Amino acid sequence: MTTSIDRSAVQAPQSVWEMAQQQLDDVARLIGLSEGIHLFLRVPKRVLEVSVPVRMDDGRIRIYTGYRVQHNMSRGPSKGGIRFHPDVTLDEVKALAMWMTWKCALVNIPFGGAKGGVICDPKAMSMQELENLTRRFTTEISIIIGPEKDIPAPDVYTTPQIMAWIMDTYSMQKGYSIPGVVTGKPIAIGGSLGRDKATARGCLYVVDEAMQTMKLPIEGARVAIQGFGNAGMHAATLMAERGYRIVAVSDSRGGVINAKGLDVRGIVAHKQETGSVVGFAGGDAITNKELLECDCDVLVPAALEKVITAQNAPKIRAKVVAEAANGPTLPEADAILHERGIMVLPDILANAGGVTVSYFEWVQDLQENFWEEDEINARLKQKMTRAFRETHEQAERHGVDMRTGAYAVAVERVAEATKLRGLYP
Ligand code: NAD
Repeated sequence: MTTSIDRSAVQAPQSVWEMAQQQLDDVARLIGLSEGIHLFLRVPKRVLEVSVPVRMDDGRIRIYTGYRVQHNMSRGPSKGGIRFHPDVTLDEVKALAMWMTWKCALVNIPFGGAKGGVICDPKAMSMQELENLTRRFTTEISIIIGPEKDIPAPDVYTTPQIMAWIMDTYSMQKGYSIPGVVTGKPIAIGGSLGRDKATARGCLYVVDEAMQTMKLPIEGARVAIQGFGNAGMHAATLMAERGYRIVAVSDSRGGVINAKGLDVRGIVAHKQETGSVVGFAGGDAITNKELLECDCDVLVPAALEKVITAQNAPKIRAKVVAEAANGPTLPEADAILHERGIMVLPDILANAGGVTVSYFEWVQDLQENFWEEDEINARLKQKMTRAFRETHEQAERHGVDMRTGAYAVAVERVAEATKLRGLYP
């Protein structure tokens, strides 16, 4: 018999952090996690709040608030991106740090979870101001980061250039180059080949597995992708190369649809020329709302959080939903999709390709030995395929959806490491 965790029976989560804790509580019950370990995993190991003074171009000093949260280090140093955004909150950073712990454990890389953020509007800052902010923030958090301790990476509105400034600032303080302190760097200073497409490539690998598991043909399968940035655009290109038919794509301004298939190369060129996929001649206009409900086999939300809701979940026609974005599906929508037999590949699985190749970047930096792209892609495929199979096995075993299955794998792995290490002192 199939059962899924009844999330409606509990009080609606108040914040993203409470939602993250609620997800852990649900899985703890399912897998019979001991109370002590459950309590330990429910809270972050360390939270650092810093005030970051920055000299602006007009000579004034502004003080920004930043955070670095380390959720868990039982399996290794913590890993997670830094977000520069006006809406950053400590609650959000804590939730993202906990999700990183599960994501790293699911793909079985020897990292715990962390996340950082600075409350700022990078779009309103000059390059000089951004550099000043990045260097001073790095200095403030340098007391807890390091290649053996905690390794940041890019996230929303932080770029390879910003990673280069982090690496340089940390290295200047130590007196020698330490590329392993941060990942997502430009190739010239120790970045990894394949990192730019890693999230999309990892997503492709798990969609392939899902199609095979559900006995659906890959060749010609119709795919709709919301978001045409790093994750969405590369997913469109790689999936088209693999034989999928990309029927709809969108960005913040709207989308295009063509049931016969869109010319992905043409859309990439159109986006580069005009800044949007809107107005591409090879398809009809479509809204973002319509895209989610369009006739397709695979739906890839690759833009925002909370786009699949209780309202549109009953209308989704895809058989597989692959969460390239973080948090696109609300818990109540999850239950509806599961009941309807739609396989949701959860974010901690579907977009784990990014952190996996970040791990490869860190390994290459520590060894000072750089791999060819073919080798990186082959290793990525192995990790993603295994994570899919382990998730599916747990989902079948407990009769739950793939998200709960993925959490079961990840939480059990972190719990095992925690138990083996014991409680200090
Ligand atoms: P990005 O900034 O490169 O692209 C975001 C895309 O979403 C853009 O095309 C933008 O136009 C579009 N978008 C913005 N608002 C939209 C709206 N209202 N409706 C439709 N589209 C909209 O960002 P990204 O790196 O591709 O990240 C996208 C998602 O993937 C995020 O949730 C991110 O956390 C997740 N993710 C990315 C990576 C990675 O390596 N890039 C790794 C893991 C998870």
